[in-house]
Parts: sequence; structure tokens; C-alpha cells
Amino acid sequence: MTSPRTGDMPPGELRRHAHDVSDWIADYLAGVGDMPVFPSVRPGDLTAALPAEPPARGEPMERVLDDFRRLVVPGITHWNHPAFFGYFSVSASGPGILGEMLAAALNVNAMVWRSSPAATELEDVTTAWLRVLLGLPATFEGVINDTASSSSLYALAAAREVAYPESHRAGMFGLRPGRIYASEHAHSSVEKAALTLGFGQDGFRKIPTDPYFRMDVEELARALREDVDAGLQPVAVVPTLGTTSTASVDPVADVVALAREHGAWVHVDAAYGGPAAIVPELRPLFEGWEGADSIVVNPHKWLFTPIDCSVLYCRRPQALVRAFSIVPEYLTSSELAASRSLMDYGVSLGRRFRSLKLWFVLRYFGREGLEDRIREHVDLAKALAGWIEDTPGWTVVAPVDLGLVAFRFAPDEVGGEEADRLNHRIMERVNASGEAFLTHTALGGRTTLRIAVGNVKTTQAHVARTWTLLRNAAEAARG
Ligand SMILES: *Cc1c(COP(=O)(O)O)cnc(C)c1O
Repeated sequence: MTSPRTGDMPPGELRRHAHDVSDWIADYLAGVGDMPVFPSVRPGDLTAALPAEPPARGEPMERVLDDFRRLVVPGITHWNHPAFFGYFSVSASGPGILGEMLAAALNVNAMVWRSSPAATELEDVTTAWLRVLLGLPATFEGVINDTASSSSLYALAAAREVAYPESHRAGMFGLRPGRIYASEHAHSSVEKAALTLGFGQDGFRKIPTDPYFRMDVEELARALREDVDAGLQPVAVVPTLGTTSTASVDPVADVVALAREHGAWVHVDAAYGGPAAIVPELRPLFEGWEGADSIVVNPHKWLFTPIDCSVLYCRRPQALVRAFSIVPEYLTSSELAASRSLMDYGVSLGRRFRSLKLWFVLRYFGREGLEDRIREHVDLAKALAGWIEDTPGWTVVAPVDLGLVAFRFAPDEVGGEEADRLNHRIMERVNASGEAFLTHTALGGRTTLRIAVGNVKTTQAHVARTWTLLRNAAEAARG
């Protein structure tokens, strides 16, 4: 059937393809564990397989879906694979996918209450539910952004608004230079935010870490004193709860206390680690985060919600709104005073209905289901760390508090640079097997391998098999 010249796809055709697509999704998720995690494609393969120009005449959907299966899927790195352990392992869970499908169908824009009352209010309700699960006080108001990079940018814009009220009118020119502080293991998005907000690289100071890769508070105290003496204004401190390289947890209570002395905003980057606060025995890692001004938690990382969904909690939402609120006439309406206008909490006017999928996830799994799944991931990471530690030549290089194990193969007789090359070869062998996928980082200049457990489908068998692949790869890479 060719597509009509005007109007949308006819309802009967949509229904038929929607059924096909649903079947495909269910089959894909059931079988993804048998596919290669990383595709055997080369840069340019897909581009070369597709025409340079779009079709003049509409094509039958069957053909489009066929090309999706035949050309697109073989070029996918399967983040849904239960042995995907790279970066931070994430999940598009069943309920999350259903929410995403319905959000696409509704296609509302949640910029003001009137543009979609339910989308605005479900965002209030869902972020409040998550706040309860995380054990944060009701003084934190939540808003959903696309990514943690955006959430941190907006939080730091609010910090700038507080530190330099005059900048709103006059801009940053001619003002006393200010600084934002984060550990040397903070995510690059924090430095990017400092650049975007006009602080420049000089306005971003990296604080050294202790032997466990946590922000050294003595060093932070020294940096703050030094900068204040030099006439700089401490604008914000950004502790991380779950850093990217090792999932280390900065001492947030001490950081909050120090920042307070200097009147600096505290923004907590818990993009990855945040959901672990749902688990009672892991909650102590987060002690003191309730004293922060803002916190980012990404449900699209470790809370089974398809990308994108990042929640920014702010205890001073007026500062956030002051930083971004410009209401043009065509968006004014009588309910403005009685409801939130989510367009006022960041740069984007248009906003997807992201709370729907998070609401589905929170309801389907419930607190107990979320708790058990996250706990299981931490247990799997700890089990793996135990096996690694018990094997001669292998070392775990950072404490395992969350779902990430940072480790390397470094037998005594292998020198530093040779060990770096060896670890790269091991990683490449495992990834080339298609059975598992991991990524690396550098710690103290040394190549370090990472296994992040966080996919809803991952079981002990996947972790154990990956450990076997790693040991075999080490044998082969040395030989
Ligand atoms: C993943 C991550 C980010 C970036 O998240 P995006 O949503 O991809 O922007 C920032 N900080 C930490 C600690 C992260 O783990």
C-alpha cells in the first residue's frame, strides 16, 4: 500500500503497524541477550547503505520497517543487552517503554499548565513521589529535564543568579570573578556548565581527591580560603554522589558545611548514584545531601526509564525561575498564578511529556521492586569485585559502594605502560566477542577497566560469563 498524498496514515494501517511494532519490541527485548552487544560495523556503513536523497513519493511502511530491521538494527550498540556493562548501564524497562510510546502518541508540549494540564501536574506528582523514595524533604521541588547536563547547567544558572543578582540585567561583564568547585573526578558536564555560564575555565576549580577518589575536603577548604583572599567569589560547589570513573561518593555533609561558610550554592550531581538512596542500607552514603540547594538524579540511568529523563530537585526554585522566566504575551493566561509553568525552569520552551514513563515505572515496580533491583545490582558488582580480588594479577582499584567495579589486570612482572596496552587489548577482545561490552577510564594515568551493573535484565550468569571472558582475554592477550 502506498501512502496517501494528504492526511495522516489511515487508522487501520496505523493499527496494523502498531501491532507489528509492538510484536517486534517484545521479541527484541526477549532476544536481545543473544545478539552481539556491539555491532560489527565500520564508520560510514549505514550512510553508504542509504540513499543520499529522500524519496519523492511516499513509501509503504512495510519497506521502511524492513529497512529498520535490515539496516538500522545491525548498527545498534545494544544498551538493552544484559551484558552491556559500558559507561553506565541503563534500562528501557517494559513499563518505561509503554509510557514513552503513549507520550509520543499524545504529543503534548508541557510548557505551561494550559498547554497540557495533566502533563504539568503529573510532573509535579511524579517528581514528588521520587523525592519521597529518595528520602528528601518536601522543600525540594522537582522538574524534569532531558539530561543531567541540562539539569546541572540550570542549577548553576540559579547559583549564578543568587551570587550575582545584578547579572540578570547587566550580564557578567565587569563583575567580580567567581568560581565553581568540583572534584577532579566530577563529570565534564559541570565544567561545560561553567563555560556556558560565562565563568570560563579559570572560573572552574578542580579539587584533588583522596586515595578513594573522593573530594578531599581539606583541599576544598584551602581552595575556598585562597580564592576568597584573592578576591574571587565562591559561587557553587558540586559534590558528586557516584562519579563517572569509579562511582566514588564525595563527603557531601562536609562539603555542604564548608560551602555554607562561604555562601556558595551546593549542587549535588547524583545523576548516576541517586537511585541507590531508595535502598535503606545504601542511604547512609547520601547523608547530608538534604542540605544541598539542588540535586540532579537521572531516572534514565539507574531507574529503568528510557532515555531521556533527568530530575532536577531545587530547594530554592524561585532562584531557578528568576534565572529563566521571561513570559511573552502569547503565553500569559489566567492560571499562571495557580500552577507551575515548566517553561520557566530552564532554557527550552518546548518540553516532552517525560513524567508519563517515569510514573509508569514507579507504579509498575513500586518501592520494593525498585529497591530489590538496585540492591541486586550492587550485590552483583560486589560479587564480581570479590572474584577479581581473589585472582592473582587482577586488582580492584576503587571501593565498590554502588554498581560499578573499576579494576585492571596488572601482574607484578608487567610494567606500567605495558599493562595499559594489555588492558586495552583485553577490553577489545571481550568487546569483539559480542557477548559483553565494557569501557575504560584512566586513574592516576593508568588504564582502568570498568564494569557497570545496572540493567534490569542482568543476572549473576551474565556477570560470571563476562568475568570468564575477561580472564580468557587476559590469557590470550599475554600470549
Ligand atoms: C551520566 C552522568 C552525567 C551526564 O548525564 P547526561 O544525562 O548524559 O547529561 C553527569 N554526571 C554524572 C555523575 C553522570 O554519571
